[in-house]
Amino acid sequence: MISLEEARAQILARIVPLGPVTVPLEEALDRTLASGIRSRDAIPPFDNTAMDGFAVRSADLAGASKAHPTPLPVVELIEAGRPASRALAAGEAMRILTGAPIPDGADAIVPFERCLSYDDGSVTFGAPVAPGTHIRRAGEDFAVGDEVLSAGTRLGPAALGVLATVGCAHVPVRGRPRVAVHSSGDELVPVESTLTPGKIRNSNLYSLVARLRRWGAVPIPRPVLRDDCEAIRRGLRATLEFGPDAIITTGGISAGDLDYIREVARELGDEVQVRQVDMKPGKPLVDGMIGGVPFFGLPGNPAACLVSFEIFVRPALAKMEGRLDGLLPHRRARVLAGRVFPRVGRLQLLRGRVEYDESRQELVLSPLGGQGSHLLSSFANANCLVRVGAEVDRLNEGDLADVLLLDTP
Ligand code: AMP
Ligand code: MG
Repeated sequence: MISLEEARAQILARIVPLGPVTVPLEEALDRTLASGIRSRDAIPPFDNTAMDGFAVRSADLAGASKAHPTPLPVVELIEAGRPASRALAAGEAMRILTGAPIPDGADAIVPFERCLSYDDGSVTFGAPVAPGTHIRRAGEDFAVGDEVLSAGTRLGPAALGVLATVGCAHVPVRGRPRVAVHSSGDELVPVESTLTPGKIRNSNLYSLVARLRRWGAVPIPRPVLRDDCEAIRRGLRATLEFGPDAIITTGGISAGDLDYIREVARELGDEVQVRQVDMKPGKPLVDGMIGGVPFFGLPGNPAACLVSFEIFVRPALAKMEGRLDGLLPHRRARVLAGRVFPRVGRLQLLRGRVEYDESRQELVLSPLGGQGSHLLSSFANANCLVRVGAEVDRLNEGDLADVLLLDTP
């Protein structure tokens, strides 16, 4: 048996990041930046006003008070997008709207609501104003040449706004992994089928394809591989023609005689490892390279298949794309209701549900029933995996438990 961490480290050692590609800005959401982006402009590009009001020379208002109001002539209206036609001279004011450039000569903005009175030709002030008031300075966000976003940034909506601001219309990002998914087994029938004796519907294909999509990979659903070495060989070779970045199969890797995926992967692949991982669910695992493509033979049991995806495939896909969120986020949570379960002599990853309890100001955990590797219903209600040591057979109410959060990309 190999520890989860050791198996994962060996898998990750083989993974090579995908090359960069360029995408239009509007398609860059949730992509990973392949190289840092610098600004060729100062942002904001010019000093501008944060308020609608009047541009003034603060010295002109030095003596203003309610008792001694200071009237100034309004010589121009400056709207956003159009600079003033001339500099502001001493003893003048210009009406100015938010975002408009500060005219030369002005050093402060007095908002409309701070003026005593205003009509077309003149404005009256009843208080002094400090230099710089309500002026947004050029370069406050970024200076020319600043790196605005660094390589490896996962691009969210605000980051797309930053790229737009600095004029980055074509964005260098890492390729999204294209992942082929095969399920396997003679018992599998399509979802729309009525069940006949011995048959079950193929659920792994749907959960894995959905998982990949949510992760931001590009799933390539492939036909079910029948339990026959030649059929599996043909199926995997055909899949290589698609040029995938990874291949996943489910089923056919446990110790049973009919577990052909294991055999064919060994025959076609390089560095193929048939593992017994010290974890439950997800003990059987096959990994290696087939035709130069990372290969993951996941268990057929539906819960095991999803857990193995989270523990082994997700970090590998993250490394391909240069993402930093490959490992499930780790938290501590207070056990709400105790639960006893069979000790299996392996690390257990139990399905659970965590939520933040406002009154206790901590995460609280409800372990779920139905923990068998073949049971999917509890997974549908789970949002975390509870990490339980090999020698442990209970979670006691009030204990702190280690949880790995599932409801993340
Ligand atoms: P195997 O590793 O092929 O022996 O499969 C282990 C268990 O998972 C068996 O009970 C299979 O019927 C079940 N199984 C395998 N593949 C799937 C699948 N795609 N969808 C649902 N159950 C599956
Ligand atoms: Mg099978």
